[in-house]
Amino acid sequence: MVTTHNLGFPRIGAKRELKFALESYWKSQSSRDELKAVGAQLRERHWKDQSRLDLVPAGDFAFYDQVLDMSFTLGNLPERVRGFHGDALDNAFRVARGRSSENAGEHAACCGGVAAGEMTKWFDTNYHYIVPEFDAATQFTLDTSRLVEQLGEARALGVNAKPVIIGPVTYLWLGKAKDDSDKLALLPRLLPVYGALLDHFAALGIEWVQIDEPALVTELDARWRDAFNTAYDALSARRVRLLLATYFGPLQENLELACKLPVDGLHIDAINARDEASAAVSLLPDTSVLSVGAINGRNIWKTDLNAALDWLEPLHASLGNRLWIAPSCSLLHTPVDLASETKLDAEIKSWLAFALQKLDELNVLARALNEGRACVADALAHNVAAIERRRASSRVHNPAVKAALANIDAALGQRASAYEARAKKQAALLALPAWPTTTIGSFPQTSEIRHARSQFKSGQLDEAAYHAAMEREITRAVKEQEALGLDVLVHGEAERNDMVEYFGERLDGYAFSEFGWVQSYGSRCVKPPILFGDISRPKPMTVEWTRFAQAQTTKPMKGMLTGPVTILNWSFVRDDQPRSVSCQQLALAIREEVLDLEQAGVRVIQIDEAALREGLPLRRAQWREYLRWAVEAFRIAANGVRDETQIHTHMCYSEFNDIIASIADMDADVITIETSRSDMELLDAFDDFKYPNQIGPGVYDIHSPNIPSETHIVALMKRAAERIPAERLWVNPDCGLKTRQWDEVIPALRNMVAAAHALRASA
Ligand code: GLN
Ligand code: ZN
Repeated sequence: MVTTHNLGFPRIGAKRELKFALESYWKSQSSRDELKAVGAQLRERHWKDQSRLDLVPAGDFAFYDQVLDMSFTLGNLPERVRGFHGDALDNAFRVARGRSSENAGEHAACCGGVAAGEMTKWFDTNYHYIVPEFDAATQFTLDTSRLVEQLGEARALGVNAKPVIIGPVTYLWLGKAKDDSDKLALLPRLLPVYGALLDHFAALGIEWVQIDEPALVTELDARWRDAFNTAYDALSARRVRLLLATYFGPLQENLELACKLPVDGLHIDAINARDEASAAVSLLPDTSVLSVGAINGRNIWKTDLNAALDWLEPLHASLGNRLWIAPSCSLLHTPVDLASETKLDAEIKSWLAFALQKLDELNVLARALNEGRACVADALAHNVAAIERRRASSRVHNPAVKAALANIDAALGQRASAYEARAKKQAALLALPAWPTTTIGSFPQTSEIRHARSQFKSGQLDEAAYHAAMEREITRAVKEQEALGLDVLVHGEAERNDMVEYFGERLDGYAFSEFGWVQSYGSRCVKPPILFGDISRPKPMTVEWTRFAQAQTTKPMKGMLTGPVTILNWSFVRDDQPRSVSCQQLALAIREEVLDLEQAGVRVIQIDEAALREGLPLRRAQWREYLRWAVEAFRIAANGVRDETQIHTHMCYSEFNDIIASIADMDADVITIETSRSDMELLDAFDDFKYPNQIGPGVYDIHSPNIPSETHIVALMKRAAERIPAERLWVNPDCGLKTRQWDEVIPALRNMVAAAHALRASA
């Protein structure tokens, strides 16, 4: 008999119940007990939903973040929150969210101002975890309370719970040594705590523990590889059985290491590494369990169940009871329930599976393996029909798009002239002053804008009235910018709810869910649009708004687009063709928009690639290939314009050292980036590389309500000019201003413009 299990379940709730409970608690609109009750209800519901599995995860629920919870389990609290006497949950929130500096004064007597823990991407997903903090003196102490409580609840429900914890090596790997000490040196101090935790599980009568070590799918040096041997040698004598879980990619050179560790089972991501399943069979000791992730845990397409059975059946034949099946990774990265989607196009819906539907698929696979395909003939027939319909659908396949793709050649991504020649023509046309000022695109999304949008969506406002409301906002943004004296203006993006959704809604090949939320961090969720088919642009998407905005001013108005790589990286993407191909299709659609904007007289066009960096594969060996097609897609989108048209791109992050050559290869005339918090140091990457084009290093941290002073901005720009020749510098904020208020934005931009004047005067 094959065993079914799950690595983790989305905790936010099908209707985002946890989000709303958290936010209400944080605003003091509900009590801690009420919040805890919502958590308990969600856990109970989710265990019931999973109860048909042989083993269900426990301890995967977190109010904020599972890595933060692990830090609490290991007693690894940042120094600044130790000695807190209140509730542990509140203390977790203090680490996660910080206590803003504005409130620091009033809390000085009790807890002082507390800086939020650093947050970073969980491997290559869109989930963000709170980075564990270490220093050379870090000690660990076990706190089993959270896990014991959740295991008790699960037991009371009668489900067969398998505790889920992050393994010791990955835990260290995920963290950061604040004093630059060697975090791996902490392993000997950490292992006894893990040992005690496993003993505790054993005492509770737990048989299996899932110990997550996804660091094994990354490139590890010898010390980290050794750490795995040290850690699992130390933990092997415990009386529980360990299932070592790896996911998010193939193990490759770490496969043998993983198979030889003294554990009782290994979970591999067979979506990304099917061949490793059979390799693992020969490498694993013949008492070990092999768990294969046979269902994609982070995308939303139905599994081709027959195709899965074709390779699972031989595995089952050789492994028998030792074969376990599961989704490839925790279902944290998928929405909860497709059944909630009542408005989604029925045909597209029939191609999808959210978390609950994936568990159904798992059950069908298990029954087919245990009792033969015939006993699930109906379910398989249904599945085949859906898979076939999707494969053949004219909604998915557009011959014109495929033909256009076949005609792509390198010339499409090539500007007519080199940067120097273009820059001269652009300078003559735009006649900008030295230290030109601009902003990144969005202006505050006021309550009037949000109100108009929701009224329009619900039908209370007709198209014309909505349009007029947006035009009023655009006019306001233009007037404000003129009054401030900015040089290159933006229309403010009032009409856009989201920089990807806006374009997805206007492209063929995209669908939208109503409840397809996925946790991004804490209570924050995203609802990625669904890229299901060949992408085409039925009509211009932004030209009318931009034309309207340009008509309000004689200053140059930037056309504002989201780039193909960012649209791709923030969507659920079809799995029936390489991502690079979908990206090329997006590139061609954005290119059409770029050319239409140029045709409409727009002289400056910005193409945002906010998510280019986050698409980098986990393994460095694959970076080149990704960067090759990602940069090519941007070039196709951007570079069809005349020399006189100035292309900007924007990236709101600050790590460029390792990808600077690719950034330069995009050949945008101007790049704006986030730099204000790093004191311009990260411009070293551009300096060292001799980045040839223009740069706008952000001088206004838009994440903070603080208003940067003129002198501060002047100082930042002077520091920038030590690295980049002043003729190639722009003065602008770090990112868009949509999350700020007008009364913050105006004084900040006033100081920014004044700083540019001062710089011009001092030249
Ligand atoms: N143009 C977008 C804005 O200003 C860019 C947002 C982003 O980079 N995340 O909001
Ligand atoms: Zn940005």
